[in-house]
Amino acid sequence: MTESRKPSTTVVHSGRMTRAHFGTVNTPVYRTSTILQPDLATLEGHSAPYVYGRRGTPTSRSLEEAINALEDGAHTALAPSGLGAIALALLSVCSAGDHVLVSDSAYWPTRGFCDRMLTRYGIETDYYDPTIGAGIAALIKPNTRAVFCEAPGSLTFEMQDIPAIAAAAHARGASVLMDNTWATPLLFQPLAHGVDLSIQAVTKYIGGHADVMMGYVCANEGHKARLEQTHGDMGLYCSGDDCFLALRGLRTLPVRLPRHQETGLTLARWFAARPEVERVLHPALETDPGHALWKRDFKGACGLFGVVLKPQPEGALAALMDHLDYFGMGYSWGGFESLIVPAHIHRTARPFDAQGPVIRIHAGLEDPDDLIADLEAGFARMSKVK
Ligand SMILES: *Cc1c(COP(=O)(O)O)cnc(C)c1O
Repeated sequence: MTESRKPSTTVVHSGRMTRAHFGTVNTPVYRTSTILQPDLATLEGHSAPYVYGRRGTPTSRSLEEAINALEDGAHTALAPSGLGAIALALLSVCSAGDHVLVSDSAYWPTRGFCDRMLTRYGIETDYYDPTIGAGIAALIKPNTRAVFCEAPGSLTFEMQDIPAIAAAAHARGASVLMDNTWATPLLFQPLAHGVDLSIQAVTKYIGGHADVMMGYVCANEGHKARLEQTHGDMGLYCSGDDCFLALRGLRTLPVRLPRHQETGLTLARWFAARPEVERVLHPALETDPGHALWKRDFKGACGLFGVVLKPQPEGALAALMDHLDYFGMGYSWGGFESLIVPAHIHRTARPFDAQGPVIRIHAGLEDPDDLIADLEAGFARMSKVK
């Protein structure tokens, strides 16, 4: 790879094994458990490129290589879901007796993993104000092994000063983990900003079509061995079919993301001008408290943002959300379709200030005019509820 290569070229050209596959552009789907070796020396010398289905096939390796190139990482490990990748990253660095610091804005199931699983294994979790920046230093204890970041945060979209947090954590010997699902490695490069383990829910934008569940952890050189070993010990495996779908999604990410961004910003500005809306949570808006950090570190935005509504009477939210033509109601995001869900925010370190209901919008690839007409009709239904 040439140093000057741009990310969209990397997305197209990395992880391809064309010559090894009779000239096919895509690495085919390999379905296998056993991989036969030619002789005893190869079998026992572990010198073959592929030794067993769970340990990797050309399909999974193609995906890992493509991601590794995009993240500029030392090693990428695939997990069967984004949450699985979060668990893998935390288990790669933490041992009994350790302490971890997790952003109060982290994806809710991340908290579940820390509060239930990590607690059972003698690892203690404290939550911190996502906007703490260099102030994280005051929370780091002698046994703090990891600082977990997510920016912008799930549901509330606060930005984090990742380089400042990383500098403070590294000064005290703690590793920095980041869930970078919102930006994808195209819009923010965690490892280049001091993160040690970059986590992605492939389920979202890389899959991109609401038809695959997967995650990955990409490590820098210093964390490569621990990640590799933990991944192997946990027996994690992703099917060739799913790796193929993830690769297929990845190849068009650089053309999909700008459209999600553009429509997301169009909708965010439309919401911000509505009388029913208290404020819009979107770091690419100039008025957002995290805008300066976003502008400094990120190359763009995706199509996911939040809207804080003014207090509404009972039944108002259902009137808005039921009967929308184009916004589906369901979890996940990052597919080609628009989505809307209510956001239920649970915080413990720093309360989130919202008097009215909060909704989360995913801007899909539909025409924004149609999406706005759909939301306009929804607000008209909502205003009839007294
Ligand atoms: C969806 C999501 C995950 C989890 O991904 P799954 O594949 O659903 O397990 C993790 N982090 C963030 C920020 C997410 O939005």
